[in-house]
This record gives sequence, structure tokens and C-alpha cells, in this order.
Amino acid sequence: MEIKQVGVVGCGTMGSGITQVCAQSGYQVVVSEVNEKLLNKGLSSINSLLTRNVRKSRLSQEDKDAILGRIKGTTRMQDFADCDLVIEAAIENLDLKKKIFAELGQICPKEAILTTNTSCLSIIDIATAAGRPEKVLGLHFFNPVPVMKLLEIVKTIATGDDTLEIGKHFGETLGKTIVITRDAPGFIVNRLAVPFLLNAISMLESGVATREDIDTAVKLGLNHPMGPLALADLIGLDTVHFIASSIYDEFKDPQYASPTLLKKMVTAGWLGRKTGKGFYEY
Ligand code: NAD
Repeated sequence: MEIKQVGVVGCGTMGSGITQVCAQSGYQVVVSEVNEKLLNKGLSSINSLLTRNVRKSRLSQEDKDAILGRIKGTTRMQDFADCDLVIEAAIENLDLKKKIFAELGQICPKEAILTTNTSCLSIIDIATAAGRPEKVLGLHFFNPVPVMKLLEIVKTIATGDDTLEIGKHFGETLGKTIVITRDAPGFIVNRLAVPFLLNAISMLESGVATREDIDTAVKLGLNHPMGPLALADLIGLDTVHFIASSIYDEFKDPQYASPTLLKKMVTAGWLGRKTGKGFYEY
């Protein structure tokens, strides 16, 4: 099956990056938002990133125009009717994702592959809503999508082998390095990263070391590009807590239980970079 037209549901942080990468890789892309204002915001963030690349001579003006020419924005789900593969990147809410998949199942061609960029929801739960679970898989991109090389491809118990092969080939055409994981909470990266982040927060909470020393130790001792507290601020503390809680709900393993400090910071609205205050001030 040849994929020509890609659909992206949601043009926020992830959807805009996914749209850009697909269009850069030569696909025609239809991207949707809930209203014109959010659509224009997402499309203009793509435009700004491409303009920066032109300014830095990483991209020609001609290529930029061609990439933008392959992107069509919409607020109508009906515009996914000709898509061969759709990537859902709406907010992390199971009921919303099920509703979107039920609509896509009605609108998209019978052979179309439907994928979700969910970070921690059960993909089989989303897949069944589409009425074609054998055609559904997870495509878990990382932020920022144009920069991060990794793509976790998530296979549910119902995903067809041919669907998986098409997904792998598609990911490779985007220039990503593919890893395959089962539909298990946290997939590979978050399952490993969450206990690490929560441990750093617990260490800070119990006074083992300062925020700076915890982050410096990890950067220089483990050769990570940033420390876990700075990383948690970047991801968003609400998101860290949400992902941890959803993995905890499945495993009941205490290493996924959010420390009190994290819960109190989320309640206080100290969510990291996006609110100007988290473990650090911005
Ligand atoms: P975001 O809030 O930046 O963007 C989500 C967008 O979806 C919003 O603009 C919202 O208006 C739009 N939306 C909501 N309902 C919609 C609908 N019915 N149709 C079209 N658009 C709709 O969120 P995000 O960070 O881009 O996350 C999107 C998904 O990607 C989530 O499932 C998240 O868990 C996952 N994810 C996020 C990251 C990350 O680092 N941000 C990384 C990997 C995966």
C-alpha cells in the first residue's frame, strides 16, 4: 500500500511538528484543529520554524514554499476522507481519542491506517472505537518532532502484521529510527524515564541534594544532556504526574507513584517552563 496523503488530528505541540516532518518528507498532509484560531496558531508555528531554517541556510526558500504547499489545514473531519494514514495528536484524553477514532473509522477509506501519538493511554482501547483494530497502531513521536530521531511504534494485540510493516516503512521515510514495543503502559521510554524522574524529585524532597547538584550529577555522571529536574520542568510537571499515574494505575508498582512534592507543585500550578515556575524559575 502506498501512502500519499497523511492526516494529522490536532495542530498543537506534537501535531504541528508531525505535520512539518511529514510534509518535509514529501507527503501531502491534511491537519485539523478544533477552530480556525488554533489552526492558524499551529500553522504559523510551522511557518516560523521553516523560516528560521531558511535564515540559517538549512533550507532553500523554494523548498520551504514546496513544504507549505503540501500542507492543508482544516477544521472539518470530513477532509480526512482521502487519507491513507492518519496520526491522531489531540490532547491526552481517552474519551476524546475514542470519539475521534470512531469518526475516522467512518470517514477514512477502508484500507487506511489509523494511528495515535498517545504517550500513555491503552492503544487497544482507542483502536476498538475505530471498528478496524487490525489497522491501528501507535506512532509515538518525541518532542520536538523535527529534531528527535526516535519513533516508538506500538503494536497492540490486534494490530495486523501488514499494518506494522507499513507503519515501519512510513516511519523510516520520515527519517526516524524505529523501535517496536507492545501496547504496555509507558511503552519503552516513559516506562524507564518515569521512575528516574520521580526518584530525582524524591531525592530533592528528602533533602539528599540541591536541585542544581542532582541535575549536575546526572549531566556529568551519566552524560545526559540535561538533568532530571530540568527535564521534568521541560515536559511539564502535570504531564509527568499524569503519565506516572496512568502507569501506576496499571502496575500498582510504587516506583510509579508520584512523590508528594510533585503532587503539591501541580496543585499550586507550578508546572515547569510553561508556567514560568517549576523546580527552576523561568
Ligand atoms: P497540545 O495541547 O499541544 O495539542 C493538542 C491539540 O489538539 C490542541 O491544539 C487541541 O486544540 C487539539 N485538539 C483537541 N481536540 C481536537 C479534535 N477533536 N480535533 C482536532 N484537534 C483537536 O498537546 P501535545 O503536547 O501536542 O500532545 C498531543 C498528543 O501527543 C497527546 O496524546 C500527548 O500525550 C502526545 N505526546 C506529547 C508529547 C509532548 O512532549 N508534548 C510527546 C509525545 C506524545
